[in-house]
Amino acid sequence: MASLDIHLFPCLSDNYGVLIHDAENNVTASIDAPEASAVKKALAEKGWTLTHILTTHYHADHTDGNMELKGETGCIIVGPKNEADRVPGIDVQVGDGDSYEFGAFTAKVFDTPGHTAGHITYWFPQANVAFAGDTLFTLGCGRLFEGTAETMWTSLSKIKALPPETVIYSGHEYTQSNAGFALTVEPGNAALQARAKEISDMRSRGEPTVPTTLVRELETNPFLRPDSPEIQTNLGMEGRELWEVFGEVRRRKDNA
Ligand SMILES: [Zn+2]
Repeated sequence: MASLDIHLFPCLSDNYGVLIHDAENNVTASIDAPEASAVKKALAEKGWTLTHILTTHYHADHTDGNMELKGETGCIIVGPKNEADRVPGIDVQVGDGDSYEFGAFTAKVFDTPGHTAGHITYWFPQANVAFAGDTLFTLGCGRLFEGTAETMWTSLSKIKALPPETVIYSGHEYTQSNAGFALTVEPGNAALQARAKEISDMRSRGEPTVPTTLVRELETNPFLRPDSPEIQTNLGMEGRELWEVFGEVRRRKDNA
């Protein structure tokens, strides 16, 4: 079976760029395009030629490189149907339930609105990896710029339902601050305590905390754990709807 090579690199102030490459079929995609120069440098380092950009959402720090990269490579830009008018250079519009063939791989697309109204996530089941953009972060989740807590909870629930071993890439390195916040809402979570220490060590060595795995997020990410009795008790929200508890966690992070 073909293998999907994945290359992560930092860009802008705290974004991550990601390239995916199917050598057998000679296709390379940039997951979002935060910064054309950084994407080109990463392509040159790997010796790969850009054929696609897979856009998760329209924000400038995810699409600023689109036109320059398309102009130079003629790459195909795939992006969210529900905000297609805001994605520069979009060629192919995809939404909930769609599949997109990338070399030997199939990307399953699902809508994950909340951070933006049209945000999508790409899941590659054959490669056991998902690209969640600014919906789910390592120990965090995206801010609710264009959706309610209920909308975002529904989106996160779709990610929660993926196989637990799924590797999850997200768009930013926010993990150290996320870990500090997570400990304020669920200080008794032993797995979280251990992970916060591990993250602190990784960051002090300059290592990225992206990607993560879904199983680790399910154990430690407070935004995926509104069913935790400890979180519910600490928030004074025992027995409330999960989306309400999620919404309160999000509100506290916004004000932290
Ligand atoms: Zn964003």
